[in-house]
Amino acid sequence: MSAVNAAGWRPEMGSAAAGSAETTSGDKALMLEEALIFELREPGTCGVDIDAADRGPVAGLARFLRKAPAALPGLSEPETVRHYTRLSRQNYAIDLGPFPLGSCTMKHNPRLNEKVARMPGFADVHPLAPQQSARGALEVINQLAFWLIELTGMHGVAMSPKAGAHGELCGVLCIKAALEARGENRTVMLVPESAHGTNPATAAFAGFSIESIPATADGRVDLAALTARLGPDVAGVMITNPNTCGLFEREMKTISDAVHAAGGYVYCDGANFNAIVGKVRPGDLGIDAMHINLHKTFSTPHGGGGPGSGPVVLSKALSPFGPLPYTARMPDGTVRLIEEEDGAAEHPQSFGRMAAFHGQMGMFTRALAYILSHGADGLARVAEDAVLNANYVLRSLEGELEAPFAGSGPCMHEALFSDAGLAEGFTTLDIAKGLIDEGFHPMTVYFPLVVHGAMLVEPTETESKAGLDRFIGSLRSLARRAKQGDEGLKSAPHFAPRRRLDETQAARKPVLVWKGDAAA
Ligand SMILES: *Cc1c(COP(=O)(O)O)cnc(C)c1O
Repeated sequence: MSAVNAAGWRPEMGSAAAGSAETTSGDKALMLEEALIFELREPGTCGVDIDAADRGPVAGLARFLRKAPAALPGLSEPETVRHYTRLSRQNYAIDLGPFPLGSCTMKHNPRLNEKVARMPGFADVHPLAPQQSARGALEVINQLAFWLIELTGMHGVAMSPKAGAHGELCGVLCIKAALEARGENRTVMLVPESAHGTNPATAAFAGFSIESIPATADGRVDLAALTARLGPDVAGVMITNPNTCGLFEREMKTISDAVHAAGGYVYCDGANFNAIVGKVRPGDLGIDAMHINLHKTFSTPHGGGGPGSGPVVLSKALSPFGPLPYTARMPDGTVRLIEEEDGAAEHPQSFGRMAAFHGQMGMFTRALAYILSHGADGLARVAEDAVLNANYVLRSLEGELEAPFAGSGPCMHEALFSDAGLAEGFTTLDIAKGLIDEGFHPMTVYFPLVVHGAMLVEPTETESKAGLDRFIGSLRSLARRAKQGDEGLKSAPHFAPRRRLDETQAARKPVLVWKGDAAA
């Protein structure tokens, strides 16, 4: 790490020569260079003037006091604000441009959702507030639960899981509880090759052993291999539908019937529900449990680690085992929330709790605002437009990039390409880095694993045709450069704040402590 002068800039930056691309400050136009906060100032200075603490009354606590000052960077308030604002300008966001990450559903989050989520009655509701004073919040949860049950054709829903993977765990624990109630010890969970990585991880975490089911040449579950493996040791199957190749599993009902006939349960990873919402009801396909990523299908912001929200809808067979609090369809057809204190009487077979309190309130309000503002017809249109956009990307680029399943019929919400046909030594990574120079966030790369050098593009329904054409144009030119062996592409990105990083080193040997700390 190079030395930093008092102003915070590396000395070598101040070497602008006439006509050079470098500047004296290191900044390029309004693209501002930024050092680590620890490099900006010596420890010891402070942004606010506070009198030294009177240590008299806490003398007995002296052993808890610091022996030496904390090695905090000393910055003034405006310097601190500028540091973080500069960093934020180096970030890429859905509000700056498209985020074509396959499997992630990075759609625009309408501002109306934010307005509703920030209403004080929702934003400030305390998790320990007495129920009488939180009626409105509970009604939001109940209404959202009603919509999720309606849209999926299922019997009940557990709203509390905090994200997709947490929802998977909830569903698999329901399966476990149902098997225990039947007095059966089934230990194997079948997971197709094309499954999302969280599926086998979840089943293993819940104590099942995983067996992989191959995919057919057209990118779907091998039905014959799956049915051949069913038996008295199989607890169930976890299938992603639409799957991670962007294809609808057309044999889903046949698969569910076969699994049920063999005494197992069907878990569906519903993270891709945005492709079929309003069109297909998972309950009609014989699915027993499915999580819904509110932060994907029903807008709401995500990325950067959350928050997420992963309600799990359950079939009539699994409903009795759902966690509390639980929302179920009552005999009169209405949907009602069963609170924990009523659980012993109304929901006695529940396996327990998934989380403290009711779940992610902010995500519930955003998702309900999204659902109500679209309405039933608008949600079906969301699925149509998401599928249309993905097929437009697939058909526009299938001649430029190898599209391994282009012959398997229309894709759903995402288009999958492989690195076949690139010039010797050129990889999917080169194309992804080239997209950064073009001003786009790269698509998902090297996933799913069933395809070599996978590039998975999910445009979502919120991108316009003009926006898609720009993206397609950039990807087309990058594909041509990679096929022609344009060496410049191998060192992309050229225009980003940082060049190509050593990602292996960054993951294996992250430098999390500033060297200066050791001296302090
Ligand atoms: C995102 C995703 C998950 C995991 O959901 P999280 O909310 O990130 O935990 C699981 N399966 C698929 C197919 C996904 O796209």
